[in-house]
Amino acid sequence: MDLSIILTYRCNSKCSMCYIWKYPTNPKYEIDLETLKKLPDGFDYINLTGGEPTLREDLAEICDSLYPKAKTLEISTNGLNVNKILPIVKKYPNIKIRISLEGIGYTNDLIRGEKNGYEIKKEGMQKLIDAGGCDLGFATTFQDENIDQIVEIFKYTNNLNIEMATSALHNAFQFHKNDNYIYDRKRVAKKVENLIIEMLKTNKPKNWFRAYLNLGLIKKILGQDRLHACTQGTDSVFIDPWGDVYACNVRNDLLMGNLNKQSWDEIYYGEKAKEIRKMVSICPQNCWMVSSAKTSIRSRIHYKIPKFKVIYWVLLNKLKITLNLKINFEKYIDYNDIKDDSQINKRVFYLNETFKKQLQGQESKNYKQLDKYFNR
Ligand code: SF4
Repeated sequence: MDLSIILTYRCNSKCSMCYIWKYPTNPKYEIDLETLKKLPDGFDYINLTGGEPTLREDLAEICDSLYPKAKTLEISTNGLNVNKILPIVKKYPNIKIRISLEGIGYTNDLIRGEKNGYEIKKEGMQKLIDAGGCDLGFATTFQDENIDQIVEIFKYTNNLNIEMATSALHNAFQFHKNDNYIYDRKRVAKKVENLIIEMLKTNKPKNWFRAYLNLGLIKKILGQDRLHACTQGTDSVFIDPWGDVYACNVRNDLLMGNLNKQSWDEIYYGEKAKEIRKMVSICPQNCWMVSSAKTSIRSRIHYKIPKFKVIYWVLLNKLKITLNLKINFEKYIDYNDIKDDSQINKRVFYLNETFKKQLQGQESKNYKQLDKYFNR
């Protein structure tokens, strides 16, 4: 099973889709190494996330403690403090590092409120490559503002021989805001088709299966049912900086227990966990974030072997791309079934003009283009 540990709610980005940075945790009360040592061995993945995990002084010690407990240990970072990660990558070259990248140049910087963020991430990724990291990648959240660039981001990652993880804008209790909506659902969904095709064109099986995950994202973007049922609480859980264990990070009513006060077994095998799993089984949210998507497509044979239906889709469509045939997306996606969002409150961009101009740098053309999205 997978585990995501939110090490801190402190963050040095100022993302437009997540306001964690406005509500930082006090480091004194963040989950400590001794509590994390209570976790058993044998996880498939452990993802260290935040907030921004590199703001934890003890990140290297946490990695030393958790690396042996998972087949894959991941750090999800904004990439602004890569020097903190470099020694970890040198020590554990196969540790998985995903740097959030929301666009090329100014697009990233405006969406994430990061001055020179794009350049810093690019340089940081190169340092990680030079340090010998062998499971590196960028992670991008699809939204109206960056959807025209996703193929370009993919080609950039592919040229570097690194990965591109994807998700779509969504709401979650930990974001401290609930107006993360995609406005032009059909346009955004159609652009994802292009990414799927590009991924299938490559010679990397990992990309082919990611293409399938992106098919699921199209359904999420359009507001349709998931491709596979959510198994959060069973196959994947979240621990927050106060040690609270949740089935997922979207609903705060799916609280299973607290690792400061209970043992892992008491939480995971307890009565409360059973009750929460029943709630998950009828959850109407239809999320398709990485954690709940990748666990739901797994077969029970091995965590790296997908379900037969997924393998079939991948092989069939890889063959079509190889033979220069078109993928019939209409067979998988009903583009007449698009959730009606006419009643939603459109989000207000929080950055004031002065800050936006500081981020703007030389790219005034892009700045004007993006403003059409941010100043609705
Ligand atoms: S679908 Fe799964 S991940 Fe989404 S809110 Fe429900 S339980 Fe959580």
